[in-house]
This record gives sequence, structure tokens and C-alpha cells, in this order.
Amino acid sequence: SVDKERANNVAKIKVVVRKRPLNKKEIAKKEEDIINIEANSNALMVHEKRLKVDLTEYVEKHEFLFDAVLNEDVSNEDVYSETVEPIIPLIFNRTKATCFAYGQTGSGKTYTMQPLPLKASQDILRLMYHTYRNQGFQLFVSFFEIYGGKVFDLLNDRKKLCMREDGKQQVCIVGLQEYKVLDVQTIKELIERGNATRSTGTTGANEESSRSHAILQLAIKRSADGSETKPARLVGKLSFIDLAGSERGADTTDNDKQTRMEGAEINKSLLALKECIRALDNDQGHIPFRGSKLTEVLRDSFVGDSRTVMISCISPSSGSCEHTLNTLRYADRVK
Ligand code: ADP
Ligand code: MG
Repeated sequence: SVDKERANNVAKIKVVVRKRPLNKKEIAKKEEDIINIEANSNALMVHEKRLKVDLTEYVEKHEFLFDAVLNEDVSNEDVYSETVEPIIPLIFNRTKATCFAYGQTGSGKTYTMQPLPLKASQDILRLMYHTYRNQGFQLFVSFFEIYGGKVFDLLNDRKKLCMREDGKQQVCIVGLQEYKVLDVQTIKELIERGNATRSTGTTGANEESSRSHAILQLAIKRSADGSETKPARLVGKLSFIDLAGSERGADTTDNDKQTRMEGAEINKSLLALKECIRALDNDQGHIPFRGSKLTEVLRDSFVGDSRTVMISCISPSSGSCEHTLNTLRYADRVK
């Protein structure tokens, strides 16, 4: 069928890199742009400045290839069409899809991620009200974060929630608020509310959000007989994950014990995530979900007909070279 053909044409795993422009601070510090991307290419070159033993400088070049490489002039609209848009029709046909933003703090994860769920729900609602009109499809949204290995509801005053595994090895978050969405305005308000709840945690805004994974899920449900009155069952799901700053996983030597523990948790979850995506790619029967809270929560999105998009965000500046190389190597391993 047309649907099946379309599904087969969307890659199971897609790894994309997005480079942001140099910011004012980096320019003021006379940092240089060390990332080169040729037009119409999927290659990226990092020019790493190094010192020889006699302290003379030389440049080591590192080349990487990805499914797509997005330069600093690429708009959020283009990011959407490159990553999420092709997946939208599939989630009406039982696909579970996940889109991650990975990268160091300040690399553009939130800037990249925030507009995506809104654009996705616009397209989903359009399909629901036109192409699949009167077929009983319904759209729901939930939004939560994982902080220090604990789950907090971003649409319910950051209420702490527990996870439970049912008999069928399905993981569910008990009491997570799920809102039915009928129009774009509602989803816009819910996303804004969740974002505000995220960044006004207990201490400094940015500090907190860089240590948590924010997860926004769009669920498509349908009632058994296609009517709106019977209880709806899950059809497909699309998750957007703004991951904790990748550099935070190295906080394991910090003086503060809390920070160290959070760093260890982040490190564990990013490693577990990489292993799960690699297992998906190899079509291994066993996917190591239990490695972390993050991967446990995403468990049902990794089984069955799944799609994964990893958007790796990088800063162009020489001062971020080491973190940038770490991000690109992580993305390379996932591929
Ligand atoms: P992160 O979430 O990874 O910590 P942010 O998304 O908050 O990073 O981005 C850091 C800063 O850089 C923000 O002020 C953001 O507006 C800006 N920025 C990030 N990506 C881009 C981009 N592609 N174009 C323009 N500005 C960007
Ligand atoms: Mg952020």
C-alpha cells in the first residue's frame, strides 16, 4: 500500500548535525569558527588547533559524515522538514518515533527542539481534520522531565511521579497529566506552560535545565469503533527529547556531592541511550532499556515499528572544540 511504501522510505535512524552561528560572547573573545561545512554536502570538518612539543601550533583536521549536516544559516523550518516532517504520517499507522537533541549546554538544543512539537502538532491536526477526517483519531500531549533519575510532570506543577511496569513489560508513568488537543492554540499554551515550569525549578534557571532531560510526547489515539465516545487506544507516538547538557556527564569530579551524583546519572543515561539506538540499528532482539531511567521511559518507543532522529547540536567556536568533538563522536557511534 501507499502507506507501507512511505514508511519504508523513512530511515529507521537518522543522525543530523546542526551548527549554530558564533555568538557575541565568542566573537568578543576572538574565538574562531572551526567547523567547515561545504554547501550541499553531508560532510563536516573540524579544524582542531594543537600544540607540538616545541609549542608551535598546528591544525588537526577531523572529518565526519552524517545523514545531514545543517549549517548555521539553516532555519528552524528547514530543520523540521529535514527531521520530523517525513515521520508525521507514519504515526497514524502505529509507528513510535523519537527525536533527540544532543549536545553541550549552549550548543542550541532548546533553540532547535522548542519549535518542533508545535509544527508537528499543526501537521497532525491538519491530517486528523482532513485526510483522516471522521476516523476517530485524537491527539494528546504530555510533558515531563527526568532530573537526577526522577520524573517530574511539567504540566502539573512539577509533581514528582513514579514509574511502574505492567505485566506486559510496558512502562507507564503513574499520574502523568495528558491533555487532549483540539487546536494549535491549546498545544502552544501547554508547551509554553511546560517550558516555564522547566526553567523555573528550585535554583538558577539554566543551571537546572542543563541537568535534566525534557520529554514532550504527542500521542495519537483512536477509539475501537472509530467514534469519539468510546475509550481511545494508543495508535502512534512522537517524542521530543531535549537532553541534558552532554558535558554534564563529566561532572563526576565536582566538589558538590549532589552535582556528582547528577553527573553520574546523566553520564549513565546518555551511554544507555547510545547503546539502545545502536541495538535498534543492528536489529538485535535485546535492547538494553534498563540502563537508565531515560531509556526505561522510552522503552515502548523503541519496540515495534520505530523511528529515531538524533539532532546533534554543536557550537562553531574554537573554545568548544573538545566538547564538539565529543558530540560528533557520540553521534558517529549512534549511526
Ligand atoms: P542549549 O539548550 O543547548 O543549552 P540553547 O538552545 O539555549 O542551548 O542555545 C544557546 C543560545 O544560542 C541561545 O541564546 C539561543 O537562542 C542561541 N542559538 C542556538 N542555536 C541557534 C541558531 N541556530 N541560530 C541562532 N541562535 C541560536
Ligand atoms: Mg537548553
